[in-house]
Amino acid sequence: MIPSVLPTYSRAPLHFVKGEGCWLIEEDGRRFLDLGSGIAVNALGHANPVLVAALTEQANKLWHVSNLYEIPQQQALADKLVAASFADTVFFTNSGTESCELAVKMARKYWYEKGAPEKTDIIAFTGSFHGRSSAGIAAAGSEKMVKGFGPILPGFKHLPFGDMDALEAAIDEHTGAILIEPIQGEGGIRPLPDDQLKALRKLCDDKDILLILDEVQCGMGRTGRLFAHEFAGITPDIMMVAKGIGGGFPLGAVLATEEAASGMTVGTHGSTYGGNPLGCAVGGAMMDVLTEEGFLDEVSRKAGLLNQKLEGLVAAHPEIFEAVRGQGLMIGLKMKIAPADFVKAGYDKLVITVPAADNVVRLLPALTITEEEIAEAVSRLDATASALEAAA
Ligand SMILES: *Cc1c(COP(=O)(O)O)cnc(C)c1O
Repeated sequence: MIPSVLPTYSRAPLHFVKGEGCWLIEEDGRRFLDLGSGIAVNALGHANPVLVAALTEQANKLWHVSNLYEIPQQQALADKLVAASFADTVFFTNSGTESCELAVKMARKYWYEKGAPEKTDIIAFTGSFHGRSSAGIAAAGSEKMVKGFGPILPGFKHLPFGDMDALEAAIDEHTGAILIEPIQGEGGIRPLPDDQLKALRKLCDDKDILLILDEVQCGMGRTGRLFAHEFAGITPDIMMVAKGIGGGFPLGAVLATEEAASGMTVGTHGSTYGGNPLGCAVGGAMMDVLTEEGFLDEVSRKAGLLNQKLEGLVAAHPEIFEAVRGQGLMIGLKMKIAPADFVKAGYDKLVITVPAADNVVRLLPALTITEEEIAEAVSRLDATASALEAAA
């Protein structure tokens, strides 16, 4: 008999009942150190008092109002995002994949309105992840995600991540946009080198193509900058955001330049829940914290500390780990054993990590992780590796 919850997930037998900062408390009382943050979602940890206050204050006033009316919390959050980024305008969604839907629609509409309706193609990359909607799976294009779900939304080409020659060769008169994660998340914490992101921007400028960045996982302070593309000193035309922006409340956004957004006029897109007062109140508080003087510098400092300790961990367990990579607090441990085995063994040592493709275990701790918690994290990862060695 089919379970009452549609069985699309493979779940660990853990039942968390409470969260406090970097800690998750199991029903049986065990305290797990959470280095996954709900996959880069709980950016300020669990039950962060600033976010709880923003949410409850708004909850006591007004939960939902239609986008038929003005929503001051939405306006305020959009203003903050515009002030802190390349963007001139923002549309709010509820998830990463909804942001992907709009990014694709926006790019196509742009060229349609510019009198180049043939520029519908979007070039994306192998190993990428853009969510599970029809556009999201078509954009990522992996066999695992699209198989059996055809007909797949047309107009996507897939190239090897980081292969600039293949990219130049693939561009033709139908190419309207390039869609890429500056650091692949699900794909295994694979950063695109800064010079390649720069080259990508130049290619888009030279060939009249829109650059869409998916910063759903790497954005919102995760790397030590508000957005990962800032390291390369370039800006996109359109950017997808979600995960960290709501700190655990479902919220996403598409940020765009005035030019790229010019096709999106009244009636061309909408969402019932997108930009609701609750989500935007939380997002506003999140932005206030992330843009506080020194906050992101502190993220970088702690990331440096953690990475240094992880280098030591990798060196101490050469049978288990191959390397550490990533940017800021978006960290991948390249494994010599199956990532799922490490993650599972971690549960016994009360530490939560997340598997990814390319034989990687991800560490995506709250940006608010303390030095003591960093030391404790590495100690628990060390104990996990030792247990696996002893069992081998
Ligand atoms: C998680 C993720 C998505 C999809 O977000 P959902 O909120 O699950 O729809 C899209 N892109 C990237 C890079 C992601 O990490």
